[in-house]
Amino acid sequence: MFLPVIISFFCCLLLFLVYASAAIRSGVYLKALCRLPADEKVVALTFDDGPDSATTPKILDVLSHYKIPALFFCTGHKTEGQEDLLQRMVDEGHGLGNHSYGHSVFFPLLPLARMKEDIQKCEERLQRFTHRRPFFRPPFGVTNPTVAKAAAQLGYRTMGWNVRSFDTVKKNYRSVAKRINKRLQPGNIILLHDATPAMPELLNDIIHYAQQQGYRFVRADNYMGGTT
Ligand SMILES: [Zn+2]
Repeated sequence: MFLPVIISFFCCLLLFLVYASAAIRSGVYLKALCRLPADEKVVALTFDDGPDSATTPKILDVLSHYKIPALFFCTGHKTEGQEDLLQRMVDEGHGLGNHSYGHSVFFPLLPLARMKEDIQKCEERLQRFTHRRPFFRPPFGVTNPTVAKAAAQLGYRTMGWNVRSFDTVKKNYRSVAKRINKRLQPGNIILLHDATPAMPELLNDIIHYAQQQGYRFVRADNYMGGTT
């Protein structure tokens, strides 16, 4: 008679643990900045998994056209040989964040020491371009007690997002833009990816829409808060 109750309990527990790990916004294992502390109309663009030699320069062109700063969570191994591109990002006022060196699917399962090594290896790549401790964003946004410990022991602040664009999954950039625009709210931190082929068109759409609604774009790692 108690068996169904016990099974239900463990199913709920399992669901909770999956949610806690997969949803960086849950804050169960670590407190990540997932929304800017803003009442005024500001939003922030963040780009993961770059730099990408084909698409990142196009992203920078669009951002430069609108004079908008963004934050790029770079994957360490993709920065190899991309020094000019990284320098351009910094020179044009963008921020660099640490998104691990290897971005392995097994990252969350690494032992603490190896996880810290991987994060530090990415930091070494970024240090030449950024003079302050960047934010950390775990690969896939997956958190667990080891990720929390690694970030804390290395003195990192962690950043998530509150608007997931699914730009790597959806084929049509208009539906991605629609999803982002529908969720437009003060303080949004929007998750995008460098390598999305239609990123220039997508960016034009969401920047244009947000500006029409009276929003301005800020760098998520620089914003200190504000109200209208
Ligand atoms: Zn990633």
